[in-house]
Amino acid sequence: MRLRDVVLLTLTMIGAIVFLPVLVPAALVCTSVRGRRMRRAAETFGCVVCGMVLTAEAVRWADREDEKQMAELQREHPGDLFRMIRTCHAICPGCGTRYEYLERERSFVLEDPRSDGLPSAQGG
Ligand SMILES: [Zn+2]
Repeated sequence: MRLRDVVLLTLTMIGAIVFLPVLVPAALVCTSVRGRRMRRAAETFGCVVCGMVLTAEAVRWADREDEKQMAELQREHPGDLFRMIRTCHAICPGCGTRYEYLERERSFVLEDPRSDGLPSAQGG
């Protein structure tokens, strides 16, 4: 390891230690704000199939579905690591239609039927 690498590694570690007390709470706030925006968007979004307003319940259904899917993957492949790209953020309580949340538009679109929710890459 060259001196330059040691200096860069040391500065990176010091930076991480200095900024971690700021970065962790900022990440928690961003996650919370995104969740609130998504639930608020769901409260005003009508399902394109059945017309029912999604409500925050639709977001909870998608969260539970995601947790179930992750638990199943971990049970089938114990010890493996997964890199998931979540595409289902709300499930219509009326008809089960799956929606993806678009942060920029703060709205939902139909989930891409080609996305099967399976891991894009596996390793372990
Ligand atoms: Zn529906």
